[in-house]
Amino acid sequence: MKTPQLVQDEVFNGPLGLRELAIAPIPGRLVALKTKDELRAVLETIDVYVIEVPAVYAGATLNIVKNAIPDLKTVNLQHLRRVVQLDFLPVYLQDKFRSSTQPWDRHSTTSHVVGEQDEDGGKRAIELRYLLIAPTSLISPAELQRCLAQNPPFLNSTISLHVHTIPVPAFAPTSAEQAAKWTEDYWSISYKNTNPYGPHPSFLARAVADIETHAGTWLALARVAGQQTKFHALGEEIGCVIIEKAGNEQKVIAVAGDARWCSTDSTVVQRKEGPGNVMAHAVMRAIGMVAKKRLRAEPEPNPSSLGVASENAFCDAPLTPIERRVFTADNIIPGGYLCVDFDIYVTHEPCVMCSMAMLHSRFRRCVFARRMSLTGGLTAEMAKDGRTDSGDSASGLGYGMFWRPSELNWKFLAWEWVSESEEGGDAPSVDGSIQA
Ligand SMILES: [Zn+2]
Repeated sequence: MKTPQLVQDEVFNGPLGLRELAIAPIPGRLVALKTKDELRAVLETIDVYVIEVPAVYAGATLNIVKNAIPDLKTVNLQHLRRVVQLDFLPVYLQDKFRSSTQPWDRHSTTSHVVGEQDEDGGKRAIELRYLLIAPTSLISPAELQRCLAQNPPFLNSTISLHVHTIPVPAFAPTSAEQAAKWTEDYWSISYKNTNPYGPHPSFLARAVADIETHAGTWLALARVAGQQTKFHALGEEIGCVIIEKAGNEQKVIAVAGDARWCSTDSTVVQRKEGPGNVMAHAVMRAIGMVAKKRLRAEPEPNPSSLGVASENAFCDAPLTPIERRVFTADNIIPGGYLCVDFDIYVTHEPCVMCSMAMLHSRFRRCVFARRMSLTGGLTAEMAKDGRTDSGDSASGLGYGMFWRPSELNWKFLAWEWVSESEEGGDAPSVDGSIQA
């Protein structure tokens, strides 16, 4: 079996001759982007009632509640444990509940278990449980009091019923870490290794195992692409690489740097003002090159479809040595749709336009090195006050375009490449207001 390193050597020693570039991988790790729905799930809480009962009454009390509140079955509470011991609750709840715990003993209820004598003749401690009863929207406190007071252990009891109201997460957690954090902050959470708001954890884990070895190398190659267009004064230092990876076989399909300052008319010198030619962003150019390679790979290419009519506006003809080397390689299999099964590595988070182009081209996976909080289309985080100039690297436009299955007809996996030494990636520095 081939080792990843050997595969990498083959890629660089192969017909593309990339070896001589002496590219060193950019160190880092993959951090999956949060989807829009995941972030929404994090933020929403609901208020629920909690009561204290002896452990032996836990099941019976929940049954009473189930019968008394028919709407309870329409609410998804599966991520919330219904019966919890005090020690497993957040510290703030332990303090709150301890201060109002009732003097449960053998006389306070009719149960033969409660207050039973143990072997030493001393009284056995009564096991108490805290029950998550129902969302407060389903029943009033007075009605709940009335319903519970008619049943053991409260019926004919000297114990007074305390109904607490606490906030809990409204939606299921999307990771084990999130479940642990919510258990610490809100209530005991059950995590079922699934993610209704984004890619399934096992699918994501397999994808990470598939690409993490080479991600730093492809990002380094993307950086070279940006350095070359910048060097020739064609654009900003932004670049991308499109890879086809099937098992251990990897092919570099396209490499493109940003060319927004490339003059579309050779008689005029392009002035560096405004956004430049946005059609010449690295991602747009790389997709254009893939399209051209696909046309070229057709068994009987139509000469007119290989025309250059679009080249001036889109700048999707190769402009630099590295772009030319990859573009001229006939390594694309005929018959596929644009970028299906391809991965794209970008030095910077693609802008909204490029993100949409990636979606339409049907990429499989995307890794970018640097978040672009003012212009990026992939990250789902948004500044709390709606401002995007707060300087908070976690805030952004909030589009999360890679995974919005209820609104867009394609989705792909997306990661940020986070440097091991500093959060936020290790891509070349570009003014944060510049679109990638
Ligand atoms: Zn763009």
